[in-house]
Amino acid sequence: MGLTVVGSVALDTVETPAGKNADGLGGAATFFALAASRYTQVHLVGVVGEDFPQEHIDLLSTKGIDIEGLERAEGKTFRWTGRYHDDINVRDTLDTQLNVFEHFQPELPEAAKKAKYLFLGNIHPSLQLEVLRQARPEFVALDTMNLWINTTRKELEEVLAKIDCLIINDEEIFELTGERNLVRGVHKIQQMGPAIIAPKKGEHGCLLFVKNKIFSAPAFPMADVIDPTGAGDTFAGGFMGYIAQQDSVDYDTLKRAVIHGSVVASYTCEEFSVDRIALVTQDDIDTRFEAFVELSRF
Ligand code: AMP
Repeated sequence: MGLTVVGSVALDTVETPAGKNADGLGGAATFFALAASRYTQVHLVGVVGEDFPQEHIDLLSTKGIDIEGLERAEGKTFRWTGRYHDDINVRDTLDTQLNVFEHFQPELPEAAKKAKYLFLGNIHPSLQLEVLRQARPEFVALDTMNLWINTTRKELEEVLAKIDCLIINDEEIFELTGERNLVRGVHKIQQMGPAIIAPKKGEHGCLLFVKNKIFSAPAFPMADVIDPTGAGDTFAGGFMGYIAQQDSVDYDTLKRAVIHGSVVASYTCEEFSVDRIALVTQDDIDTRFEAFVELSRF
């Protein structure tokens, strides 16, 4: 079966109302892989620089993640710095240093090519297309960001026509479709390609549109959010990891996958960097999944 993820592996410096954490392990593909590895075999494709600590590589390996596709290139690792407001839902990016990520040319090892499930993290759409040329997946999900919507729209539309599922937020739906109404925006995106759209709504949870069906999942209400960085990527990891584990994309599986995404995303917010998500056990997942069931039952 297997699940391949292509995206950023980073060193993040993050300031939140709870404190500051410098040069912590981050990156969209990292959060995704750590979450998804709780469910299935994950193949991580990305690039790090010479300064990337070996202990981070060891951590990924210890979690059973296949890192054959994690290239170590000459130069420095991608670095991202962000600061959250007192309203933790709002953050400013203070600095982005692409470093080795600027010249990233994904090369998928054989196992990554063969994986039945593929997640294209938030990278240049022409690189996402290149990954699609190399891989032979049966189900592809995608993440993107405003930058690509605004600067590389043609390539992005080409990618959208080839994928099955898009994980996206409200603002990106607006940028992509010009629609402020979420339902109309989603329908427009469905016409561009993906039948399955998961609009993330931060602390308000997530919706799931599958053709003409709609499912709504809450986020886990938390008193202490220490650092939400990577919550969206972790969500995608739990969502895709569960789908790959069940080897199904029927509607019931997709709904449970959204809850699993929400479960792991909630754990990510409990500590800085990957400190909590890296320690999540099957027991943790089961307990919080049940809490979600209770939360939504009426
Ligand atoms: P999230 O909080 O889910 O939006 O994910 C934040 C993660 O994405 C951080 O660990 C960053 O290292 C990473 N990141 C931030 N900006 C970019 C970018 N332009 N391209 C790829 N990854 C990024």
